[in-house]
Amino acid sequence: MDFKEIIKWYENTYLRKNIGLQITVENLVSILNVYNVNLKELCKSENNKPIYSIKIGSGNKKVLIWTQMHGNESTGTKSIIDLLAFLETSNFNFIKTKLFEELTILIIPILNPDGAEAYTRDNILGVDLNRDAVDLIAKESKCLNKILNDFKPEFCFNLHDQRTIFNVEGTKNPATISFLAPSVNEERTLTESRKKTMSVIVSMNEILQKVIPNHVGRYTDEFYPKATGDNFQKAGYHTILIEAGHYKNDYDREVVRKFNFLALLQGLFFIATTKSFKNYLPYFDIPNNDKKFYDVIYRNALYENKIQDIALQYKYKLVNNSVEKILELEKVGDLSNYYGHFEENLSGNIFYLI
Ligand SMILES: [Zn+2]
Repeated sequence: MDFKEIIKWYENTYLRKNIGLQITVENLVSILNVYNVNLKELCKSENNKPIYSIKIGSGNKKVLIWTQMHGNESTGTKSIIDLLAFLETSNFNFIKTKLFEELTILIIPILNPDGAEAYTRDNILGVDLNRDAVDLIAKESKCLNKILNDFKPEFCFNLHDQRTIFNVEGTKNPATISFLAPSVNEERTLTESRKKTMSVIVSMNEILQKVIPNHVGRYTDEFYPKATGDNFQKAGYHTILIEAGHYKNDYDREVVRKFNFLALLQGLFFIATTKSFKNYLPYFDIPNNDKKFYDVIYRNALYENKIQDIALQYKYKLVNNSVEKILELEKVGDLSNYYGHFEENLSGNIFYLI
């Protein structure tokens, strides 16, 4: 895949619109209106909103992708919009033909429409859908489970956003994209299913390292007995978790969206064309995610009669139907081992919390 040409298309030809942090089902329907996309209603959410699917291709290898199981994590949905635009409006016919002929892709953009509307992680009943794979309390989890059992995909992509606190271990770079091949047990056994999953991640990481070197992390593979990815992986569906994260000054996640799209396209193309899913070992060369970032650090501030460092973190709230970032005090003390996306040395001047 000639990623340089694809980036050129993305930046120069594709009439991409900024969307911001919130995407509701209504937003999605209106954005996709300009494309020849057939949205099929799969189920209803707890609050009776439609959960849609989009089907692409007619190949033998089946891939299931879902986004926004956490309602306020919209970068995956933006990348799906980009993917649909790529398939419909670009001239990369070789790649497109491979995807259409080798794969049948079922996409559920916005699995949690009520959370998307309220801009919350959980669904309207306060259920974290990513911890509901066993109990299946929420209608949205039942919906995903039914699709999994009916469609029986070979591969799944579970698209999330991660917070701005993560860096790539050993660097001052934010973890702009992080991957995980979820574990199937507490021993984190390297099953054949996990190895296959890892080999797809290896192919995506190779591309990203050329575009955003040392900005890719590997999420902890600690086993979560009730998590979706872990349970799907355990059931033999090769499940790839992608966490879109922070990139310099990209608080609206309009830049990482491009990298997420590129990773997803590469993952799909790899699944469509590779003869072997055995190259999994380089997965372990991807550095771990670490938690060394705050949004803002004021160094050497006079605060409560002491010279110390002050860290602040943005919290996101829906105010009059728009997402507002509000800086809140997060930590006070010696933060010399931490990095701020924005830093200022107050050199002993007083820090006022407004
Ligand atoms: Zn999430």
